[in-house]
Amino acid sequence: MTATTTIILGGGWGGLTAAHHLRGLVSSEHRILVIERSATFSLGVSNLGLMTGERQSVRQISRDMANLKRPGIEWVHAEVTGLDPEARTVETNVGNHIGDHLVVALGTELAPEAIPGFEGVAHNLYDAEGAIAIHEDLEQCDGGRIAVLVAGAPFRCPAAPYEAAMLLEAWAREQGIRDRVDIDVYTPEGIPMAVAGPEIGAALCAFMDDRGIGYHFNRQVARIDATSHMIEFEDGGPVAYDLLVGIPPHRVPKVLQEAGLIDSSGYVPVHPQTLELLSDVDTLAVHYPGVYAIGDVAAVRLLNSMLLPKAGVFAEGEAQVVAAAIAAAINGEPKPRGFDGHGFCYVDVGDGLAAYGTGDFYAYPGPRVTMQDPTTRGRRAKEEYEDLLDIWFSVES
Ligand SMILES: Cc1cc2nc3c(=O)[nH]c(=O)nc-3n(C[C@H](O)[C@H](O)[C@H](O)COP(=O)(O)OP(=O)(O)OC[C@H]3O[C@@H](n4cnc5c(N)ncnc54)[C@H](O)[C@@H]3O)c2cc1C
Repeated sequence: MTATTTIILGGGWGGLTAAHHLRGLVSSEHRILVIERSATFSLGVSNLGLMTGERQSVRQISRDMANLKRPGIEWVHAEVTGLDPEARTVETNVGNHIGDHLVVALGTELAPEAIPGFEGVAHNLYDAEGAIAIHEDLEQCDGGRIAVLVAGAPFRCPAAPYEAAMLLEAWAREQGIRDRVDIDVYTPEGIPMAVAGPEIGAALCAFMDDRGIGYHFNRQVARIDATSHMIEFEDGGPVAYDLLVGIPPHRVPKVLQEAGLIDSSGYVPVHPQTLELLSDVDTLAVHYPGVYAIGDVAAVRLLNSMLLPKAGVFAEGEAQVVAAAIAAAINGEPKPRGFDGHGFCYVDVGDGLAAYGTGDFYAYPGPRVTMQDPTTRGRRAKEEYEDLLDIWFSVES
């Protein structure tokens, strides 16, 4: 058997899942390269803990890529600067690579600069340092207006802004200052987690009603005025804030735009089962067999015309499917089953409770998702995402 090289672009939640699964399915002469520009790995979900103070530092929630435990996964510390899916070549700032199989798992980039006034004023919840800055402000807070502002959709983890609001509400109660704190969510969405259907949206609204959190839908921010502490919207009047928790607009990494791989969704269209890059989303014609995109970077169209949410659990499920497909191709085995669109989440509602939601996102005519009441067990299960840090990495160099 000829030795092959699989190149995984991006060593985040999806990319590292793909690398680990593939390593378990093919023999050691087959190379697995992970090209990742960051020297550390962390999960976005840990930012909520940094915000509340449950996690104390970036160091605590991250691991060094150099400490990847599993032999046979080669980390290339580099920035991907170009990609030719036809030739299966990848350009980086430190050299070029050619692969037999490519997995694009570059995630999303944040674009705070797209909203005038956002940078330097809003604390960016989606950045670990921003989450710590929120906590530092909370420590000085004795009351006031906290605004959780979603600056564009789609964004990672559709529940996260609402979780942040509920965690802040629980924090204010614990501090004994709830009567002096207003908490409001402003978002361009029509309902929370719209892709999961109206019942799930209503369930999230009910959680917020129970906690006295205000929510304001169809509010697209236009700019933030740091001097007057006002958020201005494209429609409707401005609102005042004392502490601004922001979720910046997201976009696909520039290198994929430059490679011409995105469609009108702004992301990379892929086959819903195989995750191979599509040339035509209507006929599901695969453009480059053996070239895959998974996780946040991928546009997976659902039967209700919406996109599969950008969440780590989907990145993980897709990564497992792609690893199995690559292994089958390498080992000369039949094609394995494709991705089935099932996913789940734990919505943190504060007070050590999380609600488990799960469903079939490939159902017709749209996703069928249910959500249970919040439990302590749900909260513990959510914390277990962070087990990946110890499963994949040794603790210190
Ligand atoms: C606050 C918050 C809470 C969340 N909560 C949850 C949750 O409860 N459940 C859940 O399922 N998901 C959650 N998510 C979402 C989850 O983190 C993402 O959906 C998941 O990380 C997507 O995985 P990915 O591999 O597609 O992208 P990522 O994990 O973002 O990985 C992409 C990687 O590519 C690298 N990269 C990008 N461009 C380049 C380049 N040019 N060259 C080299 N490397 C590059 C990046 O450095 C990054 O490491 C949350 C996210 C946030 C921010």
